[in-house]
Amino acid sequence: MAEKQRFQAIKGTRDLLPPETALWNHVERTANEIFSTFGFGEIRLPIFEPTELFARSIGADTDVVSKEMYTFVENPGVSSLEELRHIAVQMYALHIKDGFPDFFLALIRSLIHLVQSKSQVRELEIGSQLQSDLERMQLILNEYEKLSSSEELHEKEKKSKLLSDLAIKIQLLRFSDRVSLRPEATASVCRAYIQHGMHSLPQPVKLYYTGPMFRRERPQKGRYRQFYQIGAEVLGGTDAPAIDAEVIEMVMTFFARLGLEGAKLDINSIGCRECRPAYVELLRAELVKVKDQLQPDSQRRIETNPLRVLDSKLESEQPVIEKLPRIAEHLCSACAAHYASVKHNLVLRNVAYHENWRLVRGLDYYMRTTFEITAPGLGSQNAVCGGGRYDGLIEILGGLPTKGIGFAIGEDRLILSLQEAGKAPAPRRLDVYVAWMGEKTYDTAVRAARALRGAGFAVELPASAQKFGKALGHADKLGARYALILGDDEVASGQWTLKTLSDGSQSKFTEPDLLAHLKL
Ligand code: AMP
Repeated sequence: MAEKQRFQAIKGTRDLLPPETALWNHVERTANEIFSTFGFGEIRLPIFEPTELFARSIGADTDVVSKEMYTFVENPGVSSLEELRHIAVQMYALHIKDGFPDFFLALIRSLIHLVQSKSQVRELEIGSQLQSDLERMQLILNEYEKLSSSEELHEKEKKSKLLSDLAIKIQLLRFSDRVSLRPEATASVCRAYIQHGMHSLPQPVKLYYTGPMFRRERPQKGRYRQFYQIGAEVLGGTDAPAIDAEVIEMVMTFFARLGLEGAKLDINSIGCRECRPAYVELLRAELVKVKDQLQPDSQRRIETNPLRVLDSKLESEQPVIEKLPRIAEHLCSACAAHYASVKHNLVLRNVAYHENWRLVRGLDYYMRTTFEITAPGLGSQNAVCGGGRYDGLIEILGGLPTKGIGFAIGEDRLILSLQEAGKAPAPRRLDVYVAWMGEKTYDTAVRAARALRGAGFAVELPASAQKFGKALGHADKLGARYALILGDDEVASGQWTLKTLSDGSQSKFTEPDLLAHLKL
C-alpha cells in the first residue's frame, strides 16, 4: 500500500491556532485603537509587488533583497527561458575564462531560437526592449563568427570583449515582469502614497498596516520566513522633531496598553546628506587602521558600507568598535538641533530612552532619527520594533521630495514576549453548554441557543442528543460556565434548569428570566 503522505507547514512558516489567535486579535485590536487616537488610518496593501520596488527602496545589495526575497516571474511560460538564461550566466562565469566558449554560444543561439518560437505560438510577447536586446545579441554573435579562429592576441581580445558583451546582455535580459512577496511594507505604503496622489491630501498623511511579510531567513526562535508586522508611516508635511517623538510615543503607548514590561527604547541620529558622508569617510579611515582586528564580514563592509560594521554582534570586535568615532560628534548643526529637539520632545511625552550611537541604517535615504525597541524574553532575536526617518525614499520611488518617518513592529516577537511574561489575556470562555435530551426538546434547544447568542453569549449546541452525564462531561472539558439542561420536564413546564459548573448548584428559570440572570 502506498505510504500516506503527511504534509507539514513549510520550514519557517507556522499555523497560529486558537486560543493563541485570541491574543493576536487582541494585539491587532489594541493597535487599531491606540493608533486611531493618534490620527492614523489603516491601509491594506497587496502581498506582492514588483521586485523592482523593493530593489530600489530596500537596496539591491542588501541581504533582504539579494538573498531573502521570494521572487517569481509573472508569466510561467517563460520559466524555461529563465532557466536557460541562468545557466548561460553561470556558464560564462565558470568556463569562459578557461577558453571554452562553444557551449556558451550554442546556448545563446538556442535561447534566441526558443524566444522566437515561443513568440510565434504566442506563449511570449516580445516587447520593444526584449526585441532590441535580442537583435543586439544576434549582431554580436554574427560579429563573433566573422572573426577568424586565429590565435593572434588582438583577435583573441576582440573575441573575449564580444563574449563579455554577450554575458552582460544576457544578464540583463528580462522575459517577464518579476514579482516578489513583500519582505516589508514601507515601500508599498510609499508606492501607494505616490500612486493615489496622497500629496494633495492634508499633510502629513498618517497610515498604519498589519500583515504577513516574507523573508528567506534561517528560522529560529522569533525569526520566521513568514512573519507579521504592525507598522505605521507618516508621510508628507515637515520633518519637525515633534513628529519623530510622537511616532515613538505612539509605539510606547501601544506597548504599555498591552502590558509589555521592560521594553527598552534606543535612539540615535544618523545625520543627513550634508554631514553623514564625511562621517562615513572618517569611519572608513579609522576602520582601515584596525582592519586586521576585524572578521571577514566587517572587513568587507569597510569598503561596501562601513556603517554596517557598527551593527556587528561579534564578541571579538566589540572592543575595537567601542573606540570608533561616534556620529553624534559629527552631526551638522541642523541635525544636532533636530536630534536635541527629538530628545526634548520625548521627555515632554514622558518617554524614557537610551542613546545608542551604534544604531544605524546603511541606506542613503535614511536620515536623522533611528530607533529600535527591544523586549525581554526573546533571547538573541530581541528587537521588537525598528524605525526611522527616510526623507529621501518617496523621491527615489518616483514621487516628489517628501518627508517620511515610520516603524515596523515584529508582531510574532511582541506576542512571544507577552506570553513569556504571562501577559496574554485569558481567552474567551464558553458561557453556556446546551445539554438537550430527547428529540422533543431539540426545537427548544435551538431557540435557546439563538436567543443566548443574540444576547452576546458564547454557546455550544451539540448537534445530536446526548446522555445527561456525557453532556455535562463535555461541557466541563470545554470549560463552560453553565450547562443549560433541557429535558422533557423543562420543555413542558417552561422552567429551564441552569447548572453552574464550578459549584454544581442548579436553579430553574423561565426563558426571559434566564437571559436577565445571565446578563448580571
Ligand atoms: P525590519 O523591517 O528588518 O526593520 O524589522 C522590523 C521588525 O520586524 C524587527 O524588529 C523584528 O521584530 C521583526 N522581524 C524582522 N524580521 C523578522 C523575521 N524573520 N521573523 C520575525 N520577526 C521579524
